[in-house]
Amino acid sequence: MTQPSVTEFFDSNGPLSQVIDGYQIRPSQVEMAQMVDIAITNQDPLVVEAGTGIGKTFAYLAPALMAGGKVIISTATKNLQDQLFNKDIPKIREALKIPIKVNLLKGRSNYVCQLRMEDSIQSAQFVNKEDGTYLQKIKHFSDHSNSGEISEIENVPEFSTIWPMVTSTADNCLGQSCEFAKSCFLLKARKEALTAEVVIVNHHLFFADFMLKDEEISEILPKANTVIFDEAHQVPDIASIFFGNNFSTNELVYLMQDAQLLYDKLGKNHKKLIDISAGILDEIKDLRGQFGAINERVTFEKITSIVDFTEKLKSIHSSFLNLGQIFTLLDDQSPEQKKIIERHDVIVEKLSHWFAEKNDQYVYWLDIFSKSIQFNMTPFSIAEGFGKFREQNKIAWIFTSATLAVNDSFNFFQNLMGLSDAVSKKLNSPFDFKSNACLYVPNNMPDPNSAVFNLTVIKKIYPLIEAAKGRTFILSTSLKSMREISALLKSEFEQHDLSFPILTQGEDSKRTLIDRFKSYGNAVLIGSMSFWEGIDMRGPSLSLVIIDKLPFQSPGDPVFESRINRLKERGENPFMTFQLPQAIISLKQGAGRLIRDEVDRGVLMICDTRIIDKPYGKRIWKSLPDFKRTRQEIDVTSFLKSL
Ligand code: SF4
Repeated sequence: MTQPSVTEFFDSNGPLSQVIDGYQIRPSQVEMAQMVDIAITNQDPLVVEAGTGIGKTFAYLAPALMAGGKVIISTATKNLQDQLFNKDIPKIREALKIPIKVNLLKGRSNYVCQLRMEDSIQSAQFVNKEDGTYLQKIKHFSDHSNSGEISEIENVPEFSTIWPMVTSTADNCLGQSCEFAKSCFLLKARKEALTAEVVIVNHHLFFADFMLKDEEISEILPKANTVIFDEAHQVPDIASIFFGNNFSTNELVYLMQDAQLLYDKLGKNHKKLIDISAGILDEIKDLRGQFGAINERVTFEKITSIVDFTEKLKSIHSSFLNLGQIFTLLDDQSPEQKKIIERHDVIVEKLSHWFAEKNDQYVYWLDIFSKSIQFNMTPFSIAEGFGKFREQNKIAWIFTSATLAVNDSFNFFQNLMGLSDAVSKKLNSPFDFKSNACLYVPNNMPDPNSAVFNLTVIKKIYPLIEAAKGRTFILSTSLKSMREISALLKSEFEQHDLSFPILTQGEDSKRTLIDRFKSYGNAVLIGSMSFWEGIDMRGPSLSLVIIDKLPFQSPGDPVFESRINRLKERGENPFMTFQLPQAIISLKQGAGRLIRDEVDRGVLMICDTRIIDKPYGKRIWKSLPDFKRTRQEIDVTSFLKSL
């Protein structure tokens, strides 16, 4: 049987229509599919903003699967991975009537590492006594499991200290030299991925393992002819973590622990190793102690000016070099020993970056945690690095999301990613926003930084929530505001004797809160930035989305601040070229929670009047879908009452 063309596939009598009840052609979906098809044929980069309702997953899956060869699909969220794996790909497969092997690839920390597990059993050195019990459970599971996926293990807490002892990292895995290579769960899963036509990953896994470090997994990429990033608006931030150079003091600690385990296993005397390791642990503690009880992110410049940081770091570096001499004296050629030396050398090199001359293409900053410090070198721009990476992998690179454009321009995203050569296209949502949805900005709001802002927000949103009979999301730009709004709203409800349930982020898991919101049917859900995306609430259970402030990133983040300063030094306007586009893309995500379906109706309320009062405001609201707009409360309360 000859395969249909992409256009025929989406035709009203085409293969897709045979497997979807009530199928209707969506012209934008067909247009996107044709563009993806051309990009794959020509191995071109393509950037597509596909508004809600276009059906973008089918629009890229169909041409990618019809083209044959291996496709890697990278997403930001697990929800989308599950949707692709369980629903969308099976549908396309059914329509095309071709066998397509799909693999949902997970990071290595999802699998039990038999080598580390057995070593831990042998050494019996646990951080606490519960770990011994957990280890027995994990061993029992591992001996009887086919997959080795730790999510299937019951009654071992998610944050138990046993997990690093029974899972591998790219640094400590021995790969094919491992004595467990034949039965290794991870290697088995990756072998499966090598033979699959479609491999689904998340952006973190893609950039952490595919591109940079993990030899086993990086074999998959050269076999692909297409990489598709869905939810691509998150790619620049995630990629910049992995294009940088990061390490944590925990890596030193884990290496010393692993070395001691190895010496135990080999029955070697390791008093010297223990002594030097104990000294290094004290030095790390001392370094961390410089920051008192704070957990925060700081630029390296700030640190060097307030404490004798570099000297302490140099001292750790030199102690670590001494440790290396002990390793090389060990008369052992085992893969474990080689790996220990390799890891040691990598850490020494990473440490040395921090007192060598600074590379002005990177922001140097630290994440201070309660017991460790993470050292980060983040590039100001990943455009060049990603460009080189694409050069090395001449395949079709496709980026799509519902939020990539600012107004109609893709310059912001393309500049961040170095995709100036990409064809770009904005495809608007087919939904009738003008008839079904309303954008409301209240009058007489104080400045968003004013002390009475949240109180005024409550007074302004209360009549709308009442008119909507609950069924409201409140999206806040910070946890602090979120908590304040939640407390104020509860007291407002009490005063009015209103009993709609109020659910606030942090009271339970995100999933549970969303399920409860749906089941109540009259609830108000309040969340901060993690609730702005990835929630697909169709139907009448959501009628009102309230956004307190425009989501400008607040100063304080070292990478953000350094990027702003860099743009200023270059004579650019950081607000217009960076902060504003970034805020617009976030706002589009938040606004996108409201209308998920062609029959959805509702109100988007933005309490921050800068969207109207400031000269840049027009650029913001023009980037949103084509809502009916009003500033009259009566318009929206009447509309909400009619829903
Ligand atoms: S190959 Fe790596 S993950 Fe597998 S058992 Fe060995 S060390 Fe662990």
